[in-house]
Amino acid sequence: MVGAGYVGLTTASCLAQLGHSVIGVDVDATKVDHLNSGVIPIVEDGLESITRQMLDAKRLVFQLGYSDSIKSAEFIFLCVPTPQDEDGSADLTYIREAVTSLLPFLASGSIIVNKSTVPVGSTLVVEEIVRREDIFVVSNPEFLREGSAVHDFLHPDRIVVGSSDRRAAQRVADLYQSLNARVIICDPASAETIKYAANAFLATKLSFANAIAALCEHVGANIDDVIEGIGQDKRIGNQFLKPGPGWGGSCFPKDTRALVKIAESAGYDFELLRGVIDFNEIQFDRIVDKVRKAVGGTLTGKNIAVLGLTFKAHTNDLRDSPALRIVEHLQLQGATINAYDPTVTNPLAQVNICKTPIETCDMTDAILIATEWPEFVSLNPSEIGKVVRSKNMIDARNILDADLWRAAGFTYQGVGR
Ligand code: NAD
Repeated sequence: MVGAGYVGLTTASCLAQLGHSVIGVDVDATKVDHLNSGVIPIVEDGLESITRQMLDAKRLVFQLGYSDSIKSAEFIFLCVPTPQDEDGSADLTYIREAVTSLLPFLASGSIIVNKSTVPVGSTLVVEEIVRREDIFVVSNPEFLREGSAVHDFLHPDRIVVGSSDRRAAQRVADLYQSLNARVIICDPASAETIKYAANAFLATKLSFANAIAALCEHVGANIDDVIEGIGQDKRIGNQFLKPGPGWGGSCFPKDTRALVKIAESAGYDFELLRGVIDFNEIQFDRIVDKVRKAVGGTLTGKNIAVLGLTFKAHTNDLRDSPALRIVEHLQLQGATINAYDPTVTNPLAQVNICKTPIETCDMTDAILIATEWPEFVSLNPSEIGKVVRSKNMIDARNILDADLWRAAGFTYQGVGR
């Protein structure tokens, strides 16, 4: 397993649990040391205990860098980052580096399995670096959700395997046999497209929910009821149809932009997706407007309590978090920020990180719920009301009981409620 981050670590530990022997290779010495002592750097339900069990069972070991031990591997999974380049396209530097480092250690007949999210055509890029007929390259995109990564690995909706060699594809599919999942075997370009299309569709669905929420505010409808009403239609479904502060995280922003670029390079203007990306920026502004409106029209000199910083609950991942985007906008307009997140203790630029929600709300002019951590649902409005300077609640995740907060004297604004 090359790269022991969110995807690589989850895949390494779970494949070991399925009975395979796994070596996790990473270039980060501190991470490798921590992992070998069973300390994992990410918050993922169940991952630490599986990792420890597998280390104890000696089916899993982590190593720093590349060595002869890789020669025993039948499958080499690439799980390295594919960040956004300056022009929005996916940057393949880490993929190229990892594959180049692997070259002296590839055993004949082994399969390089690409789990990183890569532009269409990247299987060929890897094949061109390897240039060996006895090594196969297979695309096997990853669909796990942070916050439920272990569950998603063990109960996948589908396994996608893309290869021009049917036998190599089947060997990869067989690794997952005991999961009894639906397997889709296709060509590499289709597998690579499936991953981007899935993320683009999910981002579109979220933006659609945000647009309908905005419409609800204009026409006096309630988004909770509207979503229940449309979500019952099986053709639509009720998942991923929740309004919020705008989507973010380590995947959607970079993957949607990369897909626009992939389309552009292939001569297709993906206007629909460009619209979805632009609309998401507007959503951040809409939340900032709600806060500004609550505090009387200007944010200058106002102190705002932000509850939640991670891009979603049950993870400690801050990459491209909507909460951070909104904090940045609030600061630019002159606000100072107190913030609390159950997983964030390290300092953040110009943000006063607090230890509890009540400390965060002390002497603030408005409270913004930016991440849907369950502990915020049970906040006590009377207690919070005693410490704030003004009773303004902006619930960008629609998780609070609006009536309860209003009854305690707060002005309450949700999204489309
Ligand atoms: P990550 O940043 O959490 O982990 C990447 C790891 O790769 C790091 O530990 C880093 O030290 C290591 N690394 C970098 N260069 C290396 C090299 N040359 N050799 C060995 N290790 C190296 O990234 P991630 O979130 O796991 O994402 C990995 C890929 O999976 C990306 O393409 C991403 O788009 C995709 N993906 C991510 C998710 C997710 O939810 N995070 C879901 C599906 C797909």
